Amino acid sequence: MTTGFVFHERYLWHDTRSAALWMPWDGGYAQPGEHAENAETKRRFRNLLDVTELMDHLVSIKPRMATEDEILRFHTRDYHDRIKRESAENGGNGGETTPFGPGSYEIALLSAGGTIAATDAVLDRAVRNAYALVRPPGHHAEADRGRGFCLFGNVAIAAMHARAARGVGRVATVDWDVHHGNGTQKAFYDNADVLTISIHQDNNYPAYSGGLEERGEGKGEGYNINIPLPPGAGHGAYVAAFERVVLPALERFKPELIFVPSGFDGSVYDPLGRQMAHSGTYRAMTQLIMQAAQTLCDGRLVLSHEGGYSAAYVPFCGLAVMEELTGVASGVEDPFLRPIMAMTGHDLYPHQETIIAVAAELAAQVS
Ligand code: ZN
Repeated sequence: MTTGFVFHERYLWHDTRSAALWMPWDGGYAQPGEHAENAETKRRFRNLLDVTELMDHLVSIKPRMATEDEILRFHTRDYHDRIKRESAENGGNGGETTPFGPGSYEIALLSAGGTIAATDAVLDRAVRNAYALVRPPGHHAEADRGRGFCLFGNVAIAAMHARAARGVGRVATVDWDVHHGNGTQKAFYDNADVLTISIHQDNNYPAYSGGLEERGEGKGEGYNINIPLPPGAGHGAYVAAFERVVLPALERFKPELIFVPSGFDGSVYDPLGRQMAHSGTYRAMTQLIMQAAQTLCDGRLVLSHEGGYSAAYVPFCGLAVMEELTGVASGVEDPFLRPIMAMTGHDLYPHQETIIAVAAELAAQVS
């Protein structure tokens, strides 16, 4: 059994316009330049898979465009139609900090459809697990608006597809992007059949979103778990969050399929996060989620790319994930790991442990 990989050159053609990081130029003094969410991190990630020859061990899965009906399982008709119309004209803005150029509607369909294609390949047993290197990202998008560079909720839409069209019952999502997976959370907030977990930097983006107290509502109460790690959290905190919260929650929930909205902006070099994860952290989290998937759902695991804004470092975090998914060592060392390990902050510290302990109590209530 092998690992599937979704990619399309068109993902790199989605135009996020100029900005200072993410701030559009308004005629003031923040000099416009390349938007933080640009094609380069994704292009370099894929390029590193090429030059390390890990690509030779991946099964290419061709993305397709999601259908309108698939998009509308999550998004409102008004929102979908507006994005389609603005994209056909001159581009626009999905809502909150989600600029896009002409043609981005079709690319966003291909991004959601790529995650669906990865899901189908895993469910068909054509591959054991899969990574969808898609763009634009999806986990901030809400039913009626784009947010945080995300137009359509790729993982939410793929999870809805798995349940509605493929007969999958219980689905879990484990979001390790440094920002809160608010869109995925909202998509299933009142649903007890979808367990949504997000490990993120406390109150980074969106503002005032992703607290411990957001636990789901109605039938879904208890089936949403947030682990808002304080700024500065590194390897020790991430691994502890997995071992003490994510894995126990998954074991109790017993999913039939696991998704990972996979952002690499928790890395120490990321401009939009203040965490200290490194390639070894993403490697460890991949090992742990694979073990859980193996025990609970015959290994069925789909990762879909989200954030990650260090063009130099995202590829090495991504390579570590792909090595674990495939079980193939490329033999290429992360050249940044030695200087990173010389820094302080990789242990689990008491102020982080306090947060993880509260989240662990919530995980113990999942049934
Ligand atoms: Zn992010």
